[in-house]
Amino acid sequence: MTDVFLEYHTDDPELVKLAEDFWQLTPENFWQYSVKELLSRTGKRRQELMGTVHAAALAVCRNIRCVECNSPFIVRTRTDLPTKPWLYSTYRCLTCIQAELAEERRREAEKEAIENQRLMAVLEVLKSNQDPYDYRLIPYYDAIVACSVMIQSESACESGDIGRLNQLGLCASDGLARRLAAQLHSRRIFRFGESTGVEALSSNSKDASDYQYWALMVDWRFAPSVDQSSFGNVLRQLNAVIENSKGTDEFVQAVRQIWWETSRDAIEQHLRLQLRQYGMPEFSVGEKFKESFDYLLERFSVPKARYIIYRVAKNAAALSTRVDFNRPRAINTIPGAIIRDCDRAIADNWNINGYTYKWDTEEPQLFTFIFDRLLRTGIAGFRLTSGVLLEQVLKQQWEERYMFAPGSETVQ
Ligand SMILES: [Zn+2]
Repeated sequence: MTDVFLEYHTDDPELVKLAEDFWQLTPENFWQYSVKELLSRTGKRRQELMGTVHAAALAVCRNIRCVECNSPFIVRTRTDLPTKPWLYSTYRCLTCIQAELAEERRREAEKEAIENQRLMAVLEVLKSNQDPYDYRLIPYYDAIVACSVMIQSESACESGDIGRLNQLGLCASDGLARRLAAQLHSRRIFRFGESTGVEALSSNSKDASDYQYWALMVDWRFAPSVDQSSFGNVLRQLNAVIENSKGTDEFVQAVRQIWWETSRDAIEQHLRLQLRQYGMPEFSVGEKFKESFDYLLERFSVPKARYIIYRVAKNAAALSTRVDFNRPRAINTIPGAIIRDCDRAIADNWNINGYTYKWDTEEPQLFTFIFDRLLRTGIAGFRLTSGVLLEQVLKQQWEERYMFAPGSETVQ
């Protein structure tokens, strides 16, 4: 039979009797007195009765003991009285369980600290990398990005310190900023800067030759120059590369790639902003979306494409309020709607003004760089240049013929 032992906290015979009766078992392991009976005998309410019983005595079950410290099982309510003691063969008391949890937490913290130190060591090696880079041989694409960074960052020109790439306004989204940073790091042009925190490294990193990082959390710096020149001079070298290779195949490919990347990014971001205004859910850019963005940008400049995006987003939001539609379904109609609007705009010869942000401060810096520095058209070129027009421009002897007369804009 279950053995309940009482440790009394009182010598008041009335209270001792109440505790005794409360915990009294019959030889068959049933309660001698029901709670109801005790309540009516004492005239107490249930909670009051329990309080009095607990204050009078601690009930312990001596044939169940903690496997760690051998302390007996403490019975708090009738329902947790173990009438089947063999089920408690691995019983651990609360104190031992808490001690074990605390020990586990301590071991975890210790492991974490060791792991952190390991990553710090990897990070220190990455930060101290002073392998020089020859900026005179930089690929054209990388030169455009590096030069844009220098235009946007005084500290980059002075000490080579870039900081977080997504804070320089090179492009519309963090996603593209991340890709650009990763690209220039893989080319050994961007290095880990001194102020980079250890959280920028993934714990999968093994050593300074096998590591993973979050490109947006790295405080980047430029690699030192092979001829030990200042970063002001590096900027001059980058400018020379950019001027000297204008019109080459490498130039054409780089301008094409950067215009497309920055434009797709700007359009996607514009669509996200528009949809957010209507409280529409986020969307992921699958093949259909990509196709529709490319269809749009082949035919329209970014400012004009933004107008089409604005229309399409507004229509999708309106559609989502219809009873036979829901918001995800309305979002699925967007790629088709973009293509239809493109076709209609061209067929009906819409006169689209397009939408631009402030050219020098708000438009992605890579656009400013392409149109001010490389194509020398300024914002007028940006307002007009679609993917198709860009190809024509790049094939022309662009410096002589690519001229824009402001005010003469129509769709294409
Ligand atoms: Zn214990």
